[in-house]
Amino acid sequence: MQDYNPPSPTIFGKILSGEIETEIIYEDDYCIAFRDITPVAPTHILIIPTKYIATINDATEEDAERLGHLMLAGAAIAKAQGCAEDGYRLVMNCNKDGGQSVYHIHLHLIAGRQMTWPPG
Ligand code: AMP
Repeated sequence: MQDYNPPSPTIFGKILSGEIETEIIYEDDYCIAFRDITPVAPTHILIIPTKYIATINDATEEDAERLGHLMLAGAAIAKAQGCAEDGYRLVMNCNKDGGQSVYHIHLHLIAGRQMTWPPG
């Protein structure tokens, strides 16, 4: 993958390279999506860019289109999964206080139950 160049491969990098097998439920030139291994709702899908970006703090203007694409992919997947009308949440965690545990940015698409606010 030409723009995938992390200092050391994350678990998501290994999914991208195929080293870890996962059912890919959506993919295009800029992102892939697969189910979260520890779902917090009936539908819990992760959408990750094919480009390595550790946290949203590391994104640059160059990534603007790619990040917009990630959001649109989230909406498209929500529609395809049949949860768009009832609603869903697209979330990106950042660093320790944000609850980020895998340092390759990803959108959580969470759906299938009533969400609460504020989140925990
Ligand atoms: P975050 O805490 O926002 O960084 O989210 C990382 C997510 O990755 C968590 O919800 C984990 O359950 C999920 N996760 C970790 N390893 C895997 C894996 N091998 N396949 C799918 N999801 C994973």
